[in-house]
Amino acid sequence: MDPSAVSASELDEFRATLRKFATDAFSAKAAYWDEEEKFPQENRDLLARLGYLGLVIPEQYGGSGLSILHATVFLEEISRVCFNTGLVCQLAINGPSRAIEILGSEEQKNRFLPKCASGEYMFGIGMSEPGAGSATTDMVTSALPDGDAYVLNGQKVFCTGGHLATHVLVFARFGKTSGANGIGALVVEKGMPGFEVGKPDRKMGGRGVAEAELFFDNCRVPRENLLMLGDEHSTRSFRVLMSSFGPERVGNAAMCLGVAQGAFELAVAYSKERPQFGRPICEFQGIQWKIADMATQIHATRLMVHHAATHLEDGFPNPLAAAQAKLYANEMVQRVTNEALQIHGHYGFTRDFPLERMVRDSRGFALGGGTVEILRNTIASIVYGRSFNQRRS
Ligand SMILES: Cc1cc2nc3c(=O)[nH]c(=O)nc-3n(C[C@H](O)[C@H](O)[C@H](O)COP(=O)(O)OP(=O)(O)OC[C@H]3O[C@@H](n4cnc5c(N)ncnc54)[C@H](O)[C@@H]3O)c2cc1C
Repeated sequence: MDPSAVSASELDEFRATLRKFATDAFSAKAAYWDEEEKFPQENRDLLARLGYLGLVIPEQYGGSGLSILHATVFLEEISRVCFNTGLVCQLAINGPSRAIEILGSEEQKNRFLPKCASGEYMFGIGMSEPGAGSATTDMVTSALPDGDAYVLNGQKVFCTGGHLATHVLVFARFGKTSGANGIGALVVEKGMPGFEVGKPDRKMGGRGVAEAELFFDNCRVPRENLLMLGDEHSTRSFRVLMSSFGPERVGNAAMCLGVAQGAFELAVAYSKERPQFGRPICEFQGIQWKIADMATQIHATRLMVHHAATHLEDGFPNPLAAAQAKLYANEMVQRVTNEALQIHGHYGFTRDFPLERMVRDSRGFALGGGTVEILRNTIASIVYGRSFNQRRS
């Protein structure tokens, strides 16, 4: 759906419905998923039953066909209440299903998308490698043709939900090439011989949805699972695959917005209730200025995120707008959650209040989906009209 066709009142109504739904359904156990480091499966099941996981998948493939702007509001409202459930939604909505929708054949779209929309399939993304993090084009995982299959060899790291995923979109090199040449992707299914998943990582935030290592040892993947354009000497596949993750950047920024909004609301409420020196702390100008700065930064982020979600080029967010929105949102959410904790004093530092969790949850945004340093590189490259990320051997 074209986001420019969405009216402000329609979006407000959508937000109000979601706010009530998310608060009723997900707030009670938001701390539990973090504390127990458990995947919020029951929340995923509920979202799947209600059709939310197929929010932007076109109707002809079993989804609701809504716009990327709806997706940003959806991610904001879910993450405002429960960050781990927001992560589940981000993976379903802005993850590999987008790449399949853009790059897949009709047969692949019919095979995968309806089951992504229904929640039966859960996809992970296998891009990062031990030696190729920010420098994605240094990846060495190979997929070489052999009869009716590609033989996959290599290792991936940090695959969100990789230990639970039914499928992983694995990026690999399809020839003896370097740089972006010959990089494409394959859909690998759990249980394929030669595919093993490592133990989930133990991490600081987003602890309900862990990342895991993936190992491929002569794993034969049928040719019909290939997502690639051009041949092994072409950079086209890599470029298009990367653009298909543009919505992921905007979704990441929308989740920051949700977490920041949640922390901000808690800080406002607490400042009205907590008395010191004979009056509520909201009556001190020092607190009011913190709240004013938080409100302003959240508003600026919302404008940037919604701008990125409405200024599309060939169906993808404009790369400059998406990078700027993610960069600003990633740093904003750390400032806002930290100030919200500060307003709660020592109570905010305890695990009895959600602020310490929100501060921890905020930290990973600036790393996943392009670090803030790489986003600055992207923005500078667009400003200067040239890339400075040339490889030095
Ligand atoms: C919560 C989370 C979820 C993730 N999920 C997935 C997933 O599902 N699938 C997946 O494939 N990956 C995933 N990742 C991995 C993520 O994409 C990588 O962490 C990221 O690309 C950075 O790689 P790295 O951690 O190896 O850091 P490195 O690339 O080693 O970078 C280390 C530091 O150097 C900086 N740096 C590197 N190059 C430059 C440069 N040219 N200029 C300036 N600074 C630079 C970086 O910004 C960083 O601060 C996830 C990460 C996180 C945190």
